[in-house]
Amino acid sequence: MHSKATALKGVGPKKSDYLIKLNIETIEDFLYFYPRDYEDRRRLRNINSLRDGNTALIKGKTTSMLKGRIPGRQTLKLLIQDNTGSIEVVFFHGGYLAKTLKLNEEYLFYGKVSVNQGKLQMLHPDITKYEPDQKLAILPVYPLTSGVTQGEMRKWQKEAHEAYLPYMQEYLPEATITRNRLCGIHNAIENIHFPKDRKTLLQAKYRLIFEELLFLQTGLLAIKKKMTSIDKGISFSKEVTMDDFAASLPYTLTGAQQRVLNEIDLDMGSGKVMNRLVQGDVGSGKTILAAAAMYKAVKCGFQAVMMAPTELLAKQHFEDLKPLFVAHHIEVGFLSGSIPAKEKKDTLSKIESGEVDIIIGTHAVIQPNVKYASVGLVITDEQHRFGVNQRGILSKKGKNPDVLVMTATPIPRTLAVILYGDMDISIIDEMPPGRRKIIRTAVNEDGREAAYEFVRREVRKGRQAYIVAPLIEDSKYVDAKSALGLYDELKERFNEFPVAFLHGAMKQPDKDRIINELYTGKIRILISTVVIEVGINVPNATIMLIENAERFGLAQLHQLRGRVGRGNEQSYCILISEKGSAVSEERAEIMRTTSDGFLIAEKDLELRGPGEFFGIKQHGIPELKLADIVKHVKILNIVREEAEHILDNDALLIKEENVRFKNRIDKLFNNTESLNL
Ligand code: ADP
Ligand code: MG
Repeated sequence: MHSKATALKGVGPKKSDYLIKLNIETIEDFLYFYPRDYEDRRRLRNINSLRDGNTALIKGKTTSMLKGRIPGRQTLKLLIQDNTGSIEVVFFHGGYLAKTLKLNEEYLFYGKVSVNQGKLQMLHPDITKYEPDQKLAILPVYPLTSGVTQGEMRKWQKEAHEAYLPYMQEYLPEATITRNRLCGIHNAIENIHFPKDRKTLLQAKYRLIFEELLFLQTGLLAIKKKMTSIDKGISFSKEVTMDDFAASLPYTLTGAQQRVLNEIDLDMGSGKVMNRLVQGDVGSGKTILAAAAMYKAVKCGFQAVMMAPTELLAKQHFEDLKPLFVAHHIEVGFLSGSIPAKEKKDTLSKIESGEVDIIIGTHAVIQPNVKYASVGLVITDEQHRFGVNQRGILSKKGKNPDVLVMTATPIPRTLAVILYGDMDISIIDEMPPGRRKIIRTAVNEDGREAAYEFVRREVRKGRQAYIVAPLIEDSKYVDAKSALGLYDELKERFNEFPVAFLHGAMKQPDKDRIINELYTGKIRILISTVVIEVGINVPNATIMLIENAERFGLAQLHQLRGRVGRGNEQSYCILISEKGSAVSEERAEIMRTTSDGFLIAEKDLELRGPGEFFGIKQHGIPELKLADIVKHVKILNIVREEAEHILDNDALLIKEENVRFKNRIDKLFNNTESLNL
């Protein structure tokens, strides 16, 4: 049943390579490769009823064929007639057709009708030979890749259906199907590809959307239930309080920070495993909460690990937090891929012996060679860059350690329940006092000159500026600014200041040097890609100028903007966008008027859709093919109840009626470690 696609007629090694680009490797994959649209070819139209702009199916006889030439190719013009009238059919690449089509034969033509100089015309219609017993149907339209034609795809789909569909077994629990009046899997797969009519198509779609969301929700909820049902978590002593740590800070926590800190404290004190997500806008002060939690873990005799997605961010946390811990006699170590071998060896042995209490680093902290003496708390920062998988691996480094996840990307509630359905969520919805509002403007190219001069004035006053571009270097294919291109241009213009560039493909020592010089104030203007999106904290930097702002998502713009406004001086964010597109103007307007990260995230979701928003793939959760968590919120709510219901009755999904369901979830979650219930 899981035969390779090549088992189908006409799929050889070469076609199979093309199909892999569409993620089709097995025959089963065909069935789950859904059409992107349909062509309704159930109704034959009379030629004399056609109007400009109609998309229609006609049956007619070829009464004349006229070959022609335009430079480089052969054209073909046919005159087609039925009982009611005639229409011209034109192909600009007609060479092949001219050889195969015959005069005075009947064909079916499906295509868009236009009127050219008063004459009806169809340009490049789909042609099939008319067979007298032909069944007219709704035909699927598949997304394609070069090397695979629509006709081939339809043919293979038919074959795949014949070969596989009869053997497919229902995997949704019977009760779920009944309760929600879903159609069975055979019906659903059959009709999503080759629908009998609109109604069956809708039923098929509903069922498939439902199951996609159900797998996702049940999977995530199962992880959550599993985590919270482990009573063997660590209960950190209630005697050790985070307040001691908070009291040693030069400021008092905001109300929101205090509230979230209490939530964390409660979790840590309980015997259950903490699995908590802390969301808070850039600058809301999450890092210090992470530090307080680590303080508690260490004072209770455990190690704490903090993992950040980039070297930059990890280094930053290390530098920021180390001095705070020194006062409490807590040892902090740093791990990343790029530290010298000797130093690394030394750190690794100190981690293993327990001499180091807190370990801050990149992915390096989850590598197999890192052995911890006793991990009690695991923190990942900027979670949206890590997958469910990686979260799991880090947890395994200790014995059911508590898990805290921090993200600065405000996640709309709708998405949060999906992406973090396995976690409890805390929100820091208040900024530390005294922050000045960042002044923002959005301009197009006409405003660039003035924007640059504004940068000059600010930098002359002693401030520093970021200029961000979407590309690393200029590209033939993409019409957008690049960091290197801008650097060449602007180092002349701003030759009175030290200007530097930074991008992700640079060597680590070079990056480190640049960041250092930025911190010490040696670099006054930094031209960069989005690598600076997270992790840089230079209070003296007051200008964020973003080129080709239309190419960034709102959430990303929001992150970038968060790099300024970190000190006492007035800060500015300037967006330069290409003239034109309505979306980009709408986005610029939102950015100009809003500083609420959650609102921005909601808008981003609306404007760009969930896929773009998160790179859902990175999360290690199943791909949603038909379901759209924005459009299908109603279904999502029903599904969530259903998932709860199923798990309430069978938390581990081991009952007979749920076995196939569970297998399917395991498969879709790609055997994510943490889902191995
Ligand atoms: P986040 O990680 O949420 O982006 P940080 O934890 O880096 O934010 O905090 C941003 C800045 O605000 C840091 O310099 C931090 O020292 C400071 N800060 C945090 N909490 C407070 C507070 N309650 N009062 C004043 N400053 C604070
Ligand atoms: Mg942070």
